[in-house]
Amino acid sequence: MVGAGIGGLTLGLLLRKHGVEARIYEQASELREVGAAVALAANGTRVLRRLGLGDQLKESSVEPTDVVYRRWASGELIASFPMGPTYNTRYGAEFFGIHRVNLQRILADSWGRDGLHLNSRLQDLEEREDGIRLHFAERAPVVADVVVGADGVRSAVRNWVTGGGPAPTYSGASGFRGLAQVSTLSEMPDPMTIQFWLGPGAYVIHYPISESTINFLAVLPGPTPWPFSTWMTEEPSGTALAAFEGWHPVVREMVASVEQSPRWALFSLPPLQRWTRGHTVLLGDAAHAMLPHQGQGANQAIEDAAVLAALLADTDRSELGDALRRYEMLRRPRTRQLQRSSWDNSEILRLPDGPDAESRDRKLSTLPDQLDWIHGYDIDDLVAPGRSLPFSPSPEHRTSQTRRGSASSLSVLS
Ligand SMILES: Cc1cc2nc3c(=O)[nH]c(=O)nc-3n(C[C@H](O)[C@H](O)[C@H](O)COP(=O)(O)OP(=O)(O)OC[C@H]3O[C@@H](n4cnc5c(N)ncnc54)[C@H](O)[C@@H]3O)c2cc1C
Repeated sequence: MVGAGIGGLTLGLLLRKHGVEARIYEQASELREVGAAVALAANGTRVLRRLGLGDQLKESSVEPTDVVYRRWASGELIASFPMGPTYNTRYGAEFFGIHRVNLQRILADSWGRDGLHLNSRLQDLEEREDGIRLHFAERAPVVADVVVGADGVRSAVRNWVTGGGPAPTYSGASGFRGLAQVSTLSEMPDPMTIQFWLGPGAYVIHYPISESTINFLAVLPGPTPWPFSTWMTEEPSGTALAAFEGWHPVVREMVASVEQSPRWALFSLPPLQRWTRGHTVLLGDAAHAMLPHQGQGANQAIEDAAVLAALLADTDRSELGDALRRYEMLRRPRTRQLQRSSWDNSEILRLPDGPDAESRDRKLSTLPDQLDWIHGYDIDDLVAPGRSLPFSPSPEHRTSQTRRGSASSLSVLS
């Protein structure tokens, strides 16, 4: 496996649980997550629970009490729905807001040191009679039966699988992120909720990751085209606050309460024509990096890992290629749908005030139903032990997922 991010570590743990030997090669010299926090939805947490990590996740995170939508300037309530026990009953697993460092620690501690090779930056792959040879910048090559590229949005494995390209596409929006201390937010209503502030051209979402800390992402238009060679650029102090001139005092107080963060360009990977080449396959952001407007990038990497691990565990060495193609067929439609709805939400959450925004706000009254196809998804319906593994989703599986709600945008959590 190449990459020890959320997807790679989850896959490693699941493979080990199934008794499949796995090694992880990671370019970094130590495991550390970039960015502030991540929201784990039921479709991800139920996989991590089955790995036995549920209690640790619960201890290191917060379950938001409600999800709330407000107007950008007045703060007027648009819609609100209970989370916590209501969400858990509906989906059979929790929604957690968690600091990335905590999630990384839980996954990495569970994996341990055995089979984890740091300082191992993959440069190239080579198909040989005895397996696939991995060439690294800093260490001698190794040979594997199967290679999984869990190496993120700028994946070297993807370049090899697809023969180069496609390049990630800039969405025309960027974001500022921050961790705000609840004690400094004198006017914040309900800091333990997931709260969206919807404005013209921009939106802000925040959710708690501990009793004292909330994570926010402030999304705003441009700059278009993205003028920098990197996806993150430093901005002078006060840039974010100036961008939210005229917004509700709660939003401004929160943005002002943290040091100016870098500006993150929001990129999405166009759907790939192939995820596999021989016995090499892609997983997570390497296969389907998506915009953050559905809060599903990490959750989809976890779903990928669960499907791939179940298929590999159930496969003879002579049929590995078939198993990888099954995985691709099972995962491509769903992740493509999520890429598309995340892209749509980038517009929907930032509509100008007027009839379209009013229509969106009315649609929000059915939000829980719109979330079902994402959060209600259980990969065990597809690959539970003892079930025959379909080459493509069985009619039964399609029906059960459809009953849980059909795909649409606006099932937004970031
Ligand atoms: C602003 C923002 C907010 C987000 N919020 C959420 C959210 O709330 N919920 C959610 O589900 N998702 C969210 N995401 C998306 C989520 O962070 C990613 O989808 C997820 O981290 C992808 O995991 P991964 O394991 O595929 O890749 P990564 O986490 O990127 O891991 C890839 C690993 O591979 C290593 N690597 C890279 N190249 C090489 C190489 N050549 N050789 C060896 N190792 C290599 C890297 O060092 C890294 O450790 C958000 C993203 C953004 C930008």
